[in-house]
Amino acid sequence: MEQQLLEALKDISGNENVISDETGLLAYAYDATRLKGTPNAVVRPGSEEEVSKILIIANERGVPVVPRGAGSGLSGGAVPSRGGIVLSFERMNRIISIDTKNRIVTVQPGVVTADLQAAVEEEGLFYPPDPGSLAFCTIGGNVAENAGGMRAMIYGVTCV
Ligand SMILES: Cc1cc2nc3c(=O)[nH]c(=O)nc-3n(C[C@H](O)[C@H](O)[C@H](O)COP(=O)(O)OP(=O)(O)OC[C@H]3O[C@@H](n4cnc5c(N)ncnc54)[C@H](O)[C@@H]3O)c2cc1C
Repeated sequence: MEQQLLEALKDISGNENVISDETGLLAYAYDATRLKGTPNAVVRPGSEEEVSKILIIANERGVPVVPRGAGSGLSGGAVPSRGGIVLSFERMNRIISIDTKNRIVTVQPGVVTADLQAAVEEEGLFYPPDPGSLAFCTIGGNVAENAGGMRAMIYGVTCV
């Protein structure tokens, strides 16, 4: 990846949140399938604004971007098969609000599913989707994969 693009990514998300060394990239080359595709860079944005800026500069340069939650997917969706940038949502893991009256939660995409379940249960609510990976998979990945679990038989999957 050209140095200028790497520097632009570091300006957006900070040096510590841009990975471009061979060993670091390898950790983001797989999901739970046997597929592999090594990215040219991994960026861990901390906000929506950073995500927007990253997408703008990647789009301008025609660089592919692959979003990634926990990498537990079983369809290869988080594998950067054409290289480019992996956009890892591991830092964007905040539950922003739980509106008990309207039963609406607002979350960042990197919230771990089990954490969301526990948080709403403290408010007397119930979040049904329960993929077997719920202890580590994320809401962003659940939405993209339309994940379900044992409870799907009664309540349906994530995006019914
Ligand atoms: C042990 C195990 C048990 C599992 N059990 C189940 C199960 O019972 N039911 C089930 O449905 N699945 C199951 N899965 C598959 C997997 O856990 C789910 O598909 C889960 O939803 C993936 O979440 P993730 O955060 O790991 O996403 P990732 O694997 O990181 O990504 C999955 C897809 O989502 C996209 N994505 C991730 N975050 C975002 C975002 N913020 N914006 C846009 N796109 C995004 C990625 O690009 C990719 O295409 C299991 C997997 C394992 C390893």
